[in-house]
Amino acid sequence: MDIESIGIVGAGQMGNGIAHVCALAGYDVLLNDVRQEALDDAVGLIRRNLDRQVSREKISAEHRDAAMGRIRTTLTLTDLGATDLVIEAATEREDVKHAIFAELLPALGERTILTSNTSSISITRLASRTDRPERFMGFHFMNPVPVMQLVELIRGIATDEATYAACHGVVERLGKTAATAEDFPAFIVNRILMPMINEAVYTLYEGVGNVNSIDQAMKLGTNHPMGPLELADFIGLDTCLAIMNVLHDGLADTKYRPCPLLTKYVEAGWLGRKTQRGFYDYRGETPEPTR
Ligand code: NAD
Repeated sequence: MDIESIGIVGAGQMGNGIAHVCALAGYDVLLNDVRQEALDDAVGLIRRNLDRQVSREKISAEHRDAAMGRIRTTLTLTDLGATDLVIEAATEREDVKHAIFAELLPALGERTILTSNTSSISITRLASRTDRPERFMGFHFMNPVPVMQLVELIRGIATDEATYAACHGVVERLGKTAATAEDFPAFIVNRILMPMINEAVYTLYEGVGNVNSIDQAMKLGTNHPMGPLELADFIGLDTCLAIMNVLHDGLADTKYRPCPLLTKYVEAGWLGRKTQRGFYDYRGETPEPTR
């Protein structure tokens, strides 16, 4: 199946990046959100990010202008019914996603492929509430979307081969690389990454190291570009905790129990970079460890 137009639900951190890369790859993009402000902010941010790519000579000014010309926005979800592929990238709450699909389905073309960028919700369960489980799958981009090479493609139990092939074709046209995952809690990347981050927090909690020594050890000792605590702050500690809870509940194994110190930071509202405080304090000139 040929995909030429892509509808994106949710214009937040992920939605704007997805719109950016899809428009650059030549797709017509229709971006939806419930808030006009989110749509305006997303378009402004995409423009600034494209400008940066022009100044670094990664793309030409014509390429940027053509990409901007391919992005349209709408507050009306059902306008996405006319697109070939919908990527849902709204808030990570299952009730929100079910409500979006319920409203969108009656407007969708029969052949339209429906996907979700969810980091942790079961693709099979989301698909089961739609009229097209065979044309439904997980399309999981990494943050920041324009920079990160990987897309995880997650098959639900019913996803058919044509749907998988069409989504794989989109990933290739975006110039990215797909890793295929079966639909089990947190898929591949977060299944491996989050327990590592959680273990780094245990290492801090038990006093084996402090914030600096743990991050330094992992950067220099394993060649990771960021330490695990620095990375946790970048992802958001609430997101890290939510994914650990998905692993703990979904796999029912105590090895996934979230570290009490991670819970404490989240309860304090110290969620990382987005709230200016997490394992580091970002309110000054340079990040200062909080432990
Ligand atoms: P975000 O909070 O930045 O953006 C979510 C957007 O969805 C907001 O603009 C909100 O207004 C909008 N929204 C809420 N309800 C809506 C509705 N009914 N219809 C249309 N829009 C609606 O969140 P995000 O970080 O961009 O995450 C979006 C999705 O991407 C989640 O499923 C998340 O798990 C997934 N994801 C996030 C990351 C990450 O690092 N942030 C990485 C991979 C995947």
